[in-house]
Amino acid sequence: MTTIETPTHLRENPLEIAREQLRRIAGPFDIDDNLVQVLSECKKSIEVSVPVNMDDGSTRVFTGYRVTHNVARGPSKGGIRYHPDVTADEVKALAMWMTWKCALMGIPFGGAKGGVIVNPKELSRRELERMTRRYTTEIINEIGPEKDIPAPDVGTDSSVMAWIFDTYSMNKGHSVLGVVTGKPLEIGGSLGREEATARSALYVLRDALMYESRSLDGLRVAVQGFGKVGSFLARFLAEDGARVTAISDSTTALYNPNGIDVPAAFAHKRETGSLAGLKEADRIPHEDLLLLDCDVLAPCALEQVITAENADKIKARIILEGSNAPTTPTADEILDANGVLVLPDVLANAGGVVVSYFEWVQGLQEYFWKEAEVNAKLNDIVTRAFEETWECAQSRSLSMRHAAYGLAVRRVAEATTTRGIYP
Ligand code: NAD
Repeated sequence: MTTIETPTHLRENPLEIAREQLRRIAGPFDIDDNLVQVLSECKKSIEVSVPVNMDDGSTRVFTGYRVTHNVARGPSKGGIRYHPDVTADEVKALAMWMTWKCALMGIPFGGAKGGVIVNPKELSRRELERMTRRYTTEIINEIGPEKDIPAPDVGTDSSVMAWIFDTYSMNKGHSVLGVVTGKPLEIGGSLGREEATARSALYVLRDALMYESRSLDGLRVAVQGFGKVGSFLARFLAEDGARVTAISDSTTALYNPNGIDVPAAFAHKRETGSLAGLKEADRIPHEDLLLLDCDVLAPCALEQVITAENADKIKARIILEGSNAPTTPTADEILDANGVLVLPDVLANAGGVVVSYFEWVQGLQEYFWKEAEVNAKLNDIVTRAFEETWECAQSRSLSMRHAAYGLAVRRVAEATTTRGIYP
């Protein structure tokens, strides 16, 4: 039988990209070669096999990973991804980016990430629960509120976090609220967590527009990906006066130059599970969405969608990175040369980990905050990080990405030097 290989979204090795980005900022930010060497590697990486009894009586064995990149500034933190394209190097790269993101936000965490090679849409809910509980059990010695704290990412949601929380707690003999974030509200989740990633992207765009004396009013935005990040971002943008002219999910890309009815799209996606069949917008090829004539392009799906092949054809003047690593380093150079303002992932999508930090704090204190308090504190942290990054980019004539990564890596390097290399 011929095996048809599933096309992967990873054209380049993501870990090599992450290392290349680190090397690029090491010079301008005076990061010692020895530290670059330390920070290029992940502290710990485990691969586990996850056998699951399927509903039809068969057994399937999935492969899972959990990686900690760095803990110099605090316990490691990062999402768990369920996706058929997950690779060990992708998880390592995502863990490294989490380290920089937490440092840029000034929150006391290092970076981690986890993943299972699986298409969650092919599993029944019971199968998904059994797989999650077994995966959690396999990594149980690696995670914990003072050690490594998972959260949702692509293909996982608050239900998956609830099963992780329950599995860990059953093994410990008591509820451990701080073991995972992105939990449902009724078992210790935080108000504002679900929308937090999109909210930070909105704040970052608003701040950037302010520096250019522009506003969201009438701004034409194309949003790629309509999951936890993209759907809320489209909704917030539309609510604040922008015109969301295009949206997409893995099945369908839609365009309406007069503006998509975002609440209708939101409801349609919730009801049917996809954007397919949504009325009053034209179906376009997926790759065309990235090249549309618009003011802002917000990639909110997977990595490496803006590459050397299409970067030159992008018409948007601002790229708002809701997803992690949507732009390859070569594409970055092209966009920079073309004067496109890239608002980088570690800044734009950091709201998720910031409110995860709030959820962790609330869980440890068993004292929960009002939503307005969560959003105000998120705004303070993201705006401060934006201003620091903007100022650094202006004063050193760097791109926002290099400024953000440089500031973050320098903080991690300082913490590593201050602690010293054990023993
Ligand atoms: P999700 O699984 O909720 O949504 C992903 C969306 O992307 C889905 O709508 C899916 O259909 C769509 N998609 C997949 N392939 C696509 C394609 N080729 N074209 C168009 N759409 C496609 O995941 P999410 O949590 O929204 O995460 C999206 C990105 O944001 C990821 O890069 C993730 O690492 C990053 N991120 C997420 C969070 C978070 O809190 N969830 C925080 C920070 C960063």
